[in-house]
Amino acid sequence: MEYAGKRVLVVGMGRSGLAAVELLAGQGVRVLATDEKPLAELPQAAPALARAGADFRVQAPAVFEQAEVIVISPGVPADLPELEQARRRGVPVIGEMELAGQLLRGPIIGITGSNGKTTTTALTGHLLRAAGIPTQVGGNIGAAACGMVAASRPEQWNVLELSSFQLETVASFRAAIGVALNVTPDHLDRHHDFAAYAAAKARLFERQTEQDYAVLNAGDPTCGEYSRRTRARVYWFSLEGPVKPGMYLKDGRLWCEGRAFLEARHIPLRGRHNIENTLAAACAAQLAGASLEAVAEAAASFPGVEHRLEFVARAGGVDFYNDSKATNVDATLKALDAFEGGLWVILGGKDKGAPYTPLAEPLRSKARAVLLIGAAAPVIAEQLRGAVPLIESGTLEGAVRAAVRQAAPGEVILLAPACASFDQFDNYEHRGREFKRLVQQLGETS
Ligand code: ADP
Repeated sequence: MEYAGKRVLVVGMGRSGLAAVELLAGQGVRVLATDEKPLAELPQAAPALARAGADFRVQAPAVFEQAEVIVISPGVPADLPELEQARRRGVPVIGEMELAGQLLRGPIIGITGSNGKTTTTALTGHLLRAAGIPTQVGGNIGAAACGMVAASRPEQWNVLELSSFQLETVASFRAAIGVALNVTPDHLDRHHDFAAYAAAKARLFERQTEQDYAVLNAGDPTCGEYSRRTRARVYWFSLEGPVKPGMYLKDGRLWCEGRAFLEARHIPLRGRHNIENTLAAACAAQLAGASLEAVAEAAASFPGVEHRLEFVARAGGVDFYNDSKATNVDATLKALDAFEGGLWVILGGKDKGAPYTPLAEPLRSKARAVLLIGAAAPVIAEQLRGAVPLIESGTLEGAVRAAVRQAAPGEVILLAPACASFDQFDNYEHRGREFKRLVQQLGETS
């Protein structure tokens, strides 16, 4: 699409929207920026917009009327009435990811899924770099995709983490390698139902051609559907034994079609789900040209990503793990699965409305107690009562103190809250940092 000479409106002044403004302005396009909030409440935006020479108006129906192209941030619902009206007038409405996809030089590896995107994206970047393949990483992690355009080169791979919100609004976006990790119910508040959510992710594969690759989880029914809807060559990964073509786990080793290339115990990340992430990243890296030897060596040295089952410290023989990113029940189940037992699990925060009862069984067999924090504490208590001892702790600090008082050497204190953080913290990163600070403090006072 040609943008020069058109009036382009960018909606939503978060990280992605600002990157879109800067990208377009850098190409000489006249941009109008808008957001629900006034500029005074967007401290990051004001200097960036000034630098880009873009005008700003607070979101209102009139702002949309003059636009000839509209670019929306992933945080903006694609079905806003103003956007529907613009579409009816024939105005193209595209997402920030679509814009980036049109302008990025170099092939794209796009990685989506309900859980594991950030880990797998960072790991894929790590594998490619270690194999000496030029790579940049971004999207839903680190730099926004539009912010990667300036540094992109034809021979360099762009590894992009893609959320369903980013994929919902792509049209011509095409990934040379598309990866889907798993599709479980999440974000149903925005996508309305599971079918719509799965369909948003499916867009990653719909524009692919016979030259491209779709890397899919053989154990996930929705991935099975994607395999039937793409023209790309399908590569499978599986925790349940042989798949072809693709990679799998068998007898404690990772295999690529009859050839074992890595011992699972050499993967530094805990949990079977991280073996799955490693298989997916290894498929993508190999399809992008990395050798199996390079993949195996680099996978064994991946440091992991902060707040994802991150080892924090050992104090008094007790291990502390920060899985603050476990903001839903499914992620907490995976965290519990990664340990043998002796767990003191900190649960709670802002309730997302999904049931906590699936946690009862693994907690009964593996947890010494659950420490409850935040607004969701009463709901969780009601659903888990009887399965595991519950300690009402109120705050994260209270929970850490209570767990430390009682945990014995060899046991584990795990923050994997199954809830959002917004009742007591700015975001999950803030919650994770606070946990680590409390643990650090303990070392200093003991
Ligand atoms: P995302 O970017 O999709 O949110 P992350 O890599 O940030 O994924 O991990 C989010 C949470 O999900 C973490 O708590 C992590 O332990 C858990 N998780 C990671 N990979 C998987 C997977 N393949 N399946 C299920 N849960 C996972």
